[in-house]
Amino acid sequence: MKTSYTSLDRFTSGEYEFDRPDRFRRLVETVQRDGIVARGAGVSYVAASFSPKAVSIETAAFDRILAFDPDRSWIEVEAGVSLGKLFEFLTPRGFHIPIQPGHPQVTIGGCVAANVHGKNQYSDGIFGSLVQELTLYHPDHGVVRASPTENAEIFDLTVGGYGLTGIILSVRIGIAKLAGAAVRQRNFRVDGLLAAFREVDRLKQDHDLIYCWNDLSRLGRNRGAGVVVTGSYVAGDSGGKAETNYKRLDPSAKKRLRPNVFTDKAMPWVNRIYAHQNRPASKPVDVPLFQFNFPAVGKEFFFDFFGDTGFVELQLLLPSDAVEAYVEDFLSLQESHGRPIALTTIKAVRGDQRLLHFNGNGFNFTIELRNSPQNIAFLNNLDDLNCRYGGITNIIKDSRLRPEIAERQYPEIDLFRQRLRTYDPRRRFSSALSERLLL
Ligand SMILES: Cc1cc2nc3c(=O)[nH]c(=O)nc-3n(C[C@H](O)[C@H](O)[C@H](O)COP(=O)(O)OP(=O)(O)OC[C@H]3O[C@@H](n4cnc5c(N)ncnc54)[C@H](O)[C@@H]3O)c2cc1C
Repeated sequence: MKTSYTSLDRFTSGEYEFDRPDRFRRLVETVQRDGIVARGAGVSYVAASFSPKAVSIETAAFDRILAFDPDRSWIEVEAGVSLGKLFEFLTPRGFHIPIQPGHPQVTIGGCVAANVHGKNQYSDGIFGSLVQELTLYHPDHGVVRASPTENAEIFDLTVGGYGLTGIILSVRIGIAKLAGAAVRQRNFRVDGLLAAFREVDRLKQDHDLIYCWNDLSRLGRNRGAGVVVTGSYVAGDSGGKAETNYKRLDPSAKKRLRPNVFTDKAMPWVNRIYAHQNRPASKPVDVPLFQFNFPAVGKEFFFDFFGDTGFVELQLLLPSDAVEAYVEDFLSLQESHGRPIALTTIKAVRGDQRLLHFNGNGFNFTIELRNSPQNIAFLNNLDDLNCRYGGITNIIKDSRLRPEIAERQYPEIDLFRQRLRTYDPRRRFSSALSERLLL
């Protein structure tokens, strides 16, 4: 059976084979072949869960909560469960998953496979650090239980392995106690890109959550001015169940209006409006946790407003000591490019880079641009600059990332390839992402 899938950035689209098993036995029957890939919510920016050479195994039916141990602070779930469903279960019980990417539709399988980060990577690390144990199905290995101490090699390749080791069936995740279901938010204005990096650096120690939004949509003075947003967990009202009743992202939907609103001319105005709406208030404001965790909810139009050709995101992990010189070179490259960047954000990060993990010490610098030949050429030039400064590009975000750039940026990419082939000589699992990067 075929269906249409499109990556969130709309870079990759087509008709692909899929199956939607509703029980384990059916899943096992379907995956006895070469060319398979698991699919969670399918909201990745890139084509990570489909390929012309693979059958996508949709995991939506596998979304049960299997066990919950508040005394030892863990929860065990099937991998198809969404962050939104877990929010609904955990928040009233005074717990949360302390590392969460920015959308509630994202599944736990997607979080493990892409080893995702939240707005607190500096203080809490990446998702893999929460994973205590998982079960995985591979047609040649059967069901395997894996953890840092049991089948450690499989565990190591699966967490951040982009779905290439098998279908994750269940995951035991460490959870954290919550002070309450609100976040005390405080915004700080910054008057340029370098000032923004410095301010994030200054504030990162003292807040549970931190990110910065910047305006790179206009050339000229104060380029990169923006707002640093900090958050600390506080007691407060979750806003109740209704919060999780949000509008779904559906990049694969065919009949959806996608007006081309975010033109080069419009972007500076869009950024101005956003800056105005997010200007620092005189006092901190308490916002519901759901809203702070998932700021894209209610703004689904953002992705549609790039029109049918979509957008491209480059998310870069930039070493701390490179920032000053990088910002100067980056701004001059953008100046010669002469076109607006639609969205820019900065986060603080800390950790060890290994295998294909988007991790390290420094900053997460993200830019999103309309998908056009000129912008792609700019990003391809930027890749060289990024390599020179020791940056690494997030694989799960950038549909355009070429294997030669990934090889310059991820020192252990070959090691990952070799270990994957030792585990699975037939390389049964693949996606458009893995094929592009020759994984
Ligand atoms: C609005 C928005 C904000 C985001 N913010 C962040 C952020 O702050 N930080 C961040 O790191 N990411 C962020 N992301 C990216 C997102 O977290 C990842 O792309 C995530 O992998 C998507 O999960 P999914 O359930 O949609 O998985 P899919 O897109 O369906 O698949 C992603 C990968 O996971 C694999 N996979 C999924 N389920 C399984 C399974 N059961 N077994 C094996 N492999 C599996 C797939 O094969 C694929 O390789 C954001 C995405 C959106 C839409």
